[in-house]
Amino acid sequence: MNRTINRQIILSVVPKGKLSVHDFKMREAPIPIPNEGELLLNVRLVSLDAANRAWMHRETYRAAVEAGNVMDGYGIAEVVDSKATGFAPGDLVFTTTGWQDYIAVPASNVTKVERVDPLTHLLSAYGIAGRTAYHGLLSIGQPREGETVVVSAAAGSVGTFVGQIAKIKGCRVIGIAGSAEKCGWLVRELGFDDAVNYKEGDLTKALKAASPAGIDIYFDNVGGTTFEVCASQMKLHGRIVCCGAVSSYDGDLSDARPRVNPSQIVVKRLMVKGFIMSDFNAERNLALADLKAWVMAGRIKVIEDVCDGLESLPAALVGLLAGENRGKRMVRVQ
Ligand code: NAP
Repeated sequence: MNRTINRQIILSVVPKGKLSVHDFKMREAPIPIPNEGELLLNVRLVSLDAANRAWMHRETYRAAVEAGNVMDGYGIAEVVDSKATGFAPGDLVFTTTGWQDYIAVPASNVTKVERVDPLTHLLSAYGIAGRTAYHGLLSIGQPREGETVVVSAAAGSVGTFVGQIAKIKGCRVIGIAGSAEKCGWLVRELGFDDAVNYKEGDLTKALKAASPAGIDIYFDNVGGTTFEVCASQMKLHGRIVCCGAVSSYDGDLSDARPRVNPSQIVVKRLMVKGFIMSDFNAERNLALADLKAWVMAGRIKVIEDVCDGLESLPAALVGLLAGENRGKRMVRVQ
């Protein structure tokens, strides 16, 4: 939609406890004018990522989001004016758009993306979620047929892809998620072999019952107690893929420091490795080719949770951290 003003959502205070919609404010600004070498972008889709909350705490693999600034976030945007060679109005790009209608950015900061139908797949299967699952599981986890893979935040955006890719690779897959409904859905709809609700009962016992012989690969999206429990149930030569630690992002961080016995890592010869998706940018095209083939063949179901309107962003992020979403949450900016 063409507008004459640029609506922006500002992080008005850096929250100390749990994130609230009241930590954000909407403001209006002029539409920026691109300088030489820059593009003016109209933001179409904004990605909601658990890490958006972690960015508020401190500098991570990127600068911290500070109070008074436009809330940061990744998105898909359309070029409306180009002062850079190689880009024309109508091109689609992936970049850090922030929570706003328009942004002017150096062309060197964007990645041109192919238009696909539906466009939302650019933020799910063919975006951060799909590629994080693909590279983390395949390059770091290195699954072999018959192995047992456990993934936490299994019903979320990265988790739904990890489980389905592990099934394609012939693994037995156990999901960990925050409700009985999510667990049932993972098994029924996404083909997981089993799923465990971490919010009910004893996670150690439930995981042991689901996988008595232990875990070959634990894909960790949450950290905290869940990390601790899974680490204690790894098999010899198991691999722990550290993707994120959502349990330490929002509010009460008492669960943030799992206790892991280092001698367990030694005795079981475990591999524990963290990664950021962009570490694998050189393999982007290979990942996209595989992901597209699996989606087209119906071997991966793409689960998307699309909210409408720029103004819905604060509630969409608060809700994601509370476990409202199934699959990739994003906002269609209108
Ligand atoms: P998501 O999984 O779509 O949503 C977050 C989910 O986390 C919620 O739906 C909720 O589901 C679960 N959750 C919330 N609080 C929790 C807690 N205290 N303990 C356990 N689970 C909790 O979000 P996402 O953006 O895809 O992120 C998933 C993880 O991947 C995050 O840790 C993120 O930082 C990481 N990530 C890493 C990379 C990378 O490059 N390394 C890239 C993208 C994402 P439940 O109902 O199950 O609680």
